[in-house]
Amino acid sequence: MRRTVFNEDHEAFRETIRDFIATEVVPHYDEWEKQGYVPRDFYLKLGELGVFGIEVPEEYGGAGETSFKYNAVITEETARAGVSFGGSSVHTALCLPYLLKYATEEQKRRWLPPFVTGEMMTAIAMTEPGTGSDLAGMKTTAKLSEDGTHYVLNGAKTFITGGVQADRVLVCCRTAPPSPEDRRAGISILVVDTKSEGYSVGRSLDKLGLKSSDTAELSFTDVKVPVEDLLGEEGKAFSYLTHNLPQERLGIALGAYAQAAAAVGFAHEYVKERTVFGKPVASFQNTKFVLADCKADVDAMQAVVDRALEALDAGELTPADAASAKLFTTELAAKVIDKCLQLHGGYGYMREYPISRLYADTRVTRIYGGTSEVMRSIIAKSMGL
Ligand SMILES: Cc1cc2nc3c(=O)[nH]c(=O)nc-3n(C[C@H](O)[C@H](O)[C@H](O)COP(=O)(O)OP(=O)(O)OC[C@H]3O[C@@H](n4cnc5c(N)ncnc54)[C@H](O)[C@@H]3O)c2cc1C
Repeated sequence: MRRTVFNEDHEAFRETIRDFIATEVVPHYDEWEKQGYVPRDFYLKLGELGVFGIEVPEEYGGAGETSFKYNAVITEETARAGVSFGGSSVHTALCLPYLLKYATEEQKRRWLPPFVTGEMMTAIAMTEPGTGSDLAGMKTTAKLSEDGTHYVLNGAKTFITGGVQADRVLVCCRTAPPSPEDRRAGISILVVDTKSEGYSVGRSLDKLGLKSSDTAELSFTDVKVPVEDLLGEEGKAFSYLTHNLPQERLGIALGAYAQAAAAVGFAHEYVKERTVFGKPVASFQNTKFVLADCKADVDAMQAVVDRALEALDAGELTPADAASAKLFTTELAAKVIDKCLQLHGGYGYMREYPISRLYADTRVTRIYGGTSEVMRSIIAKSMGL
């Protein structure tokens, strides 16, 4: 079916990204996976290419686009090549919407220009060792100093993508205890300078997949955060999270769809080349049927993410819509990628084959950004259950 979500500008951007991946990512990717992060210079290159500024208004050095479709193109192209841009999707797809919507003019002037160039990389820290799905249960606190000039931040976060390399982290914390009527009240976001005294980065976590993105444990001991670095209003951050999570979840859904589409592409190529019992693997009826099923699944996923993309750009993507897109695509992508790996036989289990990376990388899409169970709860609630 002809796809209608992308126009000529998106397709021209796709070509640029594809060439950039071929020259600047693919030759180095194995090394980045081994070291567990992408080099800092690479983020500067992404900045130079304009990737970080797409949705940033022109007065702060960006291109002023308002569509999420350029992000979608990057997601598709990285999956197609079996690579990633490290933790940079968190910088653009997760952190930027908070800065654009809730930062003051003064904060935008301070933060957005270096955000665009890649000199100031960002991450977002919601999850804590003791709480992930239940964000209202977070324990990290920020107490306003008596003279009202700064907050004193104490606590710990975990699983923070890009947390090792970030220059500023959007730390979700309690500036007031929960109220008896509303346990979501009292949460704020501080945009913390990672060079502050008392701020420390623990282990870079050793993960099953996503080997080239650094994932950190962070801890805060009496970190002084100037009041000028509070994002939005004190105590209102839970509603900000609720507002922004649909875009994050659509981004994950897009990634899952793109990985499944890429897996079918890799399997399609492989089964034509590999011979077994003197015949190409592609010649077995089982292979044709498995790949036909996978193709039909990928087509269905594409229809879902394309519709959700249009809804997001139109400002109409509801939390339940995004949850539904994430649940459907991430659960189905896992099945598709597993079948495509099976068609590779033993080679599919070797990390030098991109299908094995996809298999490992896609697993987390059912966990982060809210687990499948949390997605089901959101959808069920929207059904009045
Ligand atoms: C690679 C990676 C990168 C990440 N990056 C970030 C990041 O950049 N920033 C950030 O803040 N976080 C990040 N996370 C954290 C991620 O969002 C959480 O892991 C996720 O939200 C789940 O929280 P948890 O791990 O505490 O699991 P838990 O909340 O402890 O869940 C454990 C199990 O209980 C189930 N469960 C929970 N609630 C319910 C319920 N109501 N009904 C039924 N079952 C339920 C869950 O579905 C799960 O199966 C990342 C995680 C990973 C693995």
